[in-house]
Amino acid sequence: MKKQLLLAGLTVSLSLVSLIAYKGMTVSSHQIQVKRAKSIIPSDPQKMAERLSAAIQIETISVKNKNNPHFEDLHQLFQKSFPLIFQNLSPETINKHSLLFKLPGKNPQEPAILLLAHLDVVPIENAKSWKSPPFSGRIDKSYIWGRGAIDDKQSAMAIMEAIEALLRKGLRPERTVYVAFGHDEEIGGHAGALQIAKVLKQRGVQCGFSLDEGLAIVPGSMIGLKPPVALIGLSEKGYLSVELKAEQSGGHSSMPPSETSVGILAKALVQLQRHPFPTHLSPTVREMFTWLAPEMQGFSKFALANLWIFEPLLHKQLSAKPTTNALIRTTMAPTMLIGSPQENVLPAQAQAVINLRLLPGDSQSKVLQRLREVIADPRVKVQARGGFSSEATPESETQNADFKLIHTSIRQVFPDAVVAPSLVLAGTDSRHYQTLCKNQYRFQPIYLEAEDLKRVHGNNERIAISAHAQAASFYFQLLENLLISSD
Ligand SMILES: [Zn+2]
Repeated sequence: MKKQLLLAGLTVSLSLVSLIAYKGMTVSSHQIQVKRAKSIIPSDPQKMAERLSAAIQIETISVKNKNNPHFEDLHQLFQKSFPLIFQNLSPETINKHSLLFKLPGKNPQEPAILLLAHLDVVPIENAKSWKSPPFSGRIDKSYIWGRGAIDDKQSAMAIMEAIEALLRKGLRPERTVYVAFGHDEEIGGHAGALQIAKVLKQRGVQCGFSLDEGLAIVPGSMIGLKPPVALIGLSEKGYLSVELKAEQSGGHSSMPPSETSVGILAKALVQLQRHPFPTHLSPTVREMFTWLAPEMQGFSKFALANLWIFEPLLHKQLSAKPTTNALIRTTMAPTMLIGSPQENVLPAQAQAVINLRLLPGDSQSKVLQRLREVIADPRVKVQARGGFSSEATPESETQNADFKLIHTSIRQVFPDAVVAPSLVLAGTDSRHYQTLCKNQYRFQPIYLEAEDLKRVHGNNERIAISAHAQAASFYFQLLENLLISSD
């Protein structure tokens, strides 16, 4: 009997191993095989670098409740640099500082395309730690330096370069293309993108898809792959700041009660830290692994092709690093603490702010309810902080012609890159257009090294001259593919 059981066990194990091996070997690639495009660089790379440098030199910093006149200077620079666009694309300023252009398609019945970028930049934290002044726009042998060189003047300039070149060639795509540049993305986009979206809605614009910043081409080594990976964001996480308040009677610190408001609040924070949100593969992240698995080697390939058995192991691995942990759970970061204004006074009220980034599927109300359950102390009031918040955006599709169009264009211009859908951890202006567009994709067509990621919103932001030229080529290729598909 024992022998029979052993034999049965062995048979089951062997079939399991064979099934895992079979699944690992038979996963087929999702990559479209296309020829590298004949290099269509819309303009002389050095000239494009100079125009981007000029745009960087205009200090369009976003600061809440402050009017920045420099946006008008940037508009003037655009007008000077891209005369055909300004003559032919009915330029409009929206809410004074945002820009909207319309390139009418040959077939206005077809759903339009929305190309997005933003004109504002974040402030400089420490100008002294920059190698050259942040608004110098310095160009050296290989790079263009300065705030906005990646995020996001680069995108705006590359889109403009591509369209100006298209007009120079007298080409017109089948579908109408809108180009929209908001001016306050870094502080929520309510004065810029949201207002543009309202205008487009009033005009009854039907948008097939929008393409915005969000993800880029990153080294594959970051996720155990040899080739670089071009990640296309299908969705972006939600944003919510929550206030925790503990109230006790204040008084003199020489006679403290056994529990103070600070102590009660601290317990609540520890409780939250001990009980993070559960890990979960959203449909987008699950799809990312479906696309990556066939391109992997060795054990990773077998593991990703067999999530039915290896999923718990994957969760464990991903949650070990902050960058991948954020892909699979709603994250909580305590960011602000307020207690007594003086060392010998017990605060009547202690307050903390937690910043949360919500996974698709975790709504704000669900998240608030869970925080209250975990803290489980009625003395701690938990409520959403006023100001900016957003739900995670809907997850866009990959099985459609528009995603294929972006995928194909990437493979034509960056043939060594593996394409995969993914989730954007931060916020973009795209969310303001979500009711307008059937699908929303977030991809900035530039190669970024791991260290470049720290430069975004950090010090010494820069872009390679060649990378900027390639980005312009990508947008040109995307628009040209629209001509080809129509003819
Ligand atoms: Zn940005």
